[in-house]
Amino acid sequence: MPQRRCPRALERRRHGTRRVWLPMQGQVYRGRASLTERLWRRVPIGAPDACWEWPGATSDKGYGLITRGGRDRRHVRTHRVAYESAVGPVPAGLFVLHTCDNPPCCNPAHLFLGTSADNTDDMMRKGRGRLPGLKGQAHPRARLSDDDIAMMRARYHAGSATQRELAEEYNVREQYVWRLVNGHARA
Ligand SMILES: [Zn+2]
Repeated sequence: MPQRRCPRALERRRHGTRRVWLPMQGQVYRGRASLTERLWRRVPIGAPDACWEWPGATSDKGYGLITRGGRDRRHVRTHRVAYESAVGPVPAGLFVLHTCDNPPCCNPAHLFLGTSADNTDDMMRKGRGRLPGLKGQAHPRARLSDDDIAMMRARYHAGSATQRELAEEYNVREQYVWRLVNGHARA
């Protein structure tokens, strides 16, 4: 049964409350917006393989910056918030890097984990990077999250998508999809 509120309480509530539009899920939230909600409220969500650039403040290296919220005025990098909201927490000692070399980009499909904030990106491209001991989606070359892979397997085995369609949708090689859905990779 809903609580009845006096008009003064409703007025206070209105001042202390924000409505948040979250484009990813099309939901309206009441209450103080979380960091994740504030991020996705501002980032324009584009095509799945496009760069989704943070439109707000950036660091001197071009990374998007967002305040932690509330009274905490410190900034965090927007692509890190994007990665954590889409994939999960970043393990200690690892950094979120871009496959697209576009610092303000927040598209989780363009983000992966590496060991150095600035150098790993180039090292991996030049084939010098070696990161032993990382498996599954913790591996910095992994562009598909464990959730992606579970979804691909489910859709393939349910007959709702072919391996070729999945390969195109996730922008990976068809042979890799074959290995995934047959349990040979990242099992
Ligand atoms: Zn990008």
